[in-house]
Order: sequence, then C-alpha cells, then structure tokens
Amino acid sequence: MKTWVAVVHREMDHRMRQVKGLSCRGAGCFGCCHGPVIAHEDEIEAILPLVTEAQLVLAAQAAAVQAAVLAQAVNVEKAGYLTNVTFPSEATVTRKQGVEALAYRCPLLDPASGACTVYAHRPLVCRGFGVSSPPANCAPGSKGKAVVPPEIEQIRDEVLGTVPSLRDRRRLVTLVDALVAEQQRRGGTA
Ligand code: SF4
Ligand code: SF4
Repeated sequence: MKTWVAVVHREMDHRMRQVKGLSCRGAGCFGCCHGPVIAHEDEIEAILPLVTEAQLVLAAQAAAVQAAVLAQAVNVEKAGYLTNVTFPSEATVTRKQGVEALAYRCPLLDPASGACTVYAHRPLVCRGFGVSSPPANCAPGSKGKAVVPPEIEQIRDEVLGTVPSLRDRRRLVTLVDALVAEQQRRGGTA
C-alpha cells in the first residue's frame, strides 16, 4: 500500500472517532454502502488483491446500474461530481436527486454479515462518512433525511486537503469501474 494512503486513512479514522453523536454502528450498518463510490487509484491498488471472482461478477452487474444512476443524476455535474471531484458523497448526491430506486449495493459488502470485506482498506469516502440521524435514514429509498454533522465536513476538508492528488480527477475512479477493469485484467468477461 502507498504510504500516503495508510497515513491519510489512519488520520481520517482518528478524526472520525472523535466525532460525538454518530449513529454509525459498524458491521451490519450499511445503508451508506449503496451507490457509486469514488476512490483514488492508489486506494484501489490495495483493494484489488482482496477481491474475489464472485465480487467481480457482482461489480459487472452493478456497472450498468451505476451508469443509469449517474445518467439520471442530472445535477451531478453542477454538484461537482464530474468536473471538480473533491470529496463528494456520491450516495448523498444521488439521493438528493431522487434516484434511490436505482441504488445498488457495493459489491464489496458481505450481505450475510453486513460487513465490508475490505474494511481495513476501504476508501476514504467510506471512512469519512457518518451521520447523526437514525441508520434507517441511510437506506436507499428512505424518506428520512441523512444528517451529516458539520464537523465531518470540516474533517474531510482538513484531512483531504493534505493530499493534493485527491483533487486530481484523473486519478479517481468509481469502485465498480475499477472492479470491472480488474475482471477484464483477470481474463473474465465484463
Ligand atoms: S452512515 Fe448510516 S448506514 Fe452508514 S454506518 Fe453510519 S448510520 Fe450506518
Ligand atoms: S468499500 Fe466497504 S465500506 Fe465502502 S461502500 Fe463498499 S462495502 Fe461499504
């Protein structure tokens, strides 16, 4: 794993642990694991060796849904998703735009346990996400509002501001797209 990835992941975890009043409960609390997840290519590099063939198949299935989600999220560009990716919560962006029905589960989530199968290597966007609202509000299609405490926005800005390449859109990719590319690299059909 690249050194900066380990350092920034550790710092994000540390800062997030200090936020009081979060509803996040760890394994089994995975409403936020739906929708497009953006990661830096250096983060992806550490994840790929852990990914199973079955997860790659799931990713290939999710790719079309993801494309539909992004295509319908008409305000995504205005929100900075495509033109100035910094640290958007893509799930929040898509929910705001009312495309919950098209949300899909991250292929790296184990639906049986509700745990992230790459937890130690999960991307920054997953580490820096937390809400003070009930976990049920995070579920795709929920009418409840997911409330992100303002200090989390500040933490994201401060932690991510230490890594200039996170502002470089060319080095960011959705997790699903990276998994589809990995499936092709391993010789599967995407
Ligand atoms: S953001 Fe929501 S779904 Fe995700 S861990 Fe926190 S409460 Fe659970
Ligand atoms: S990488 Fe892990 S934490 Fe992030 S969305 Fe996927 S399952 Fe959830």
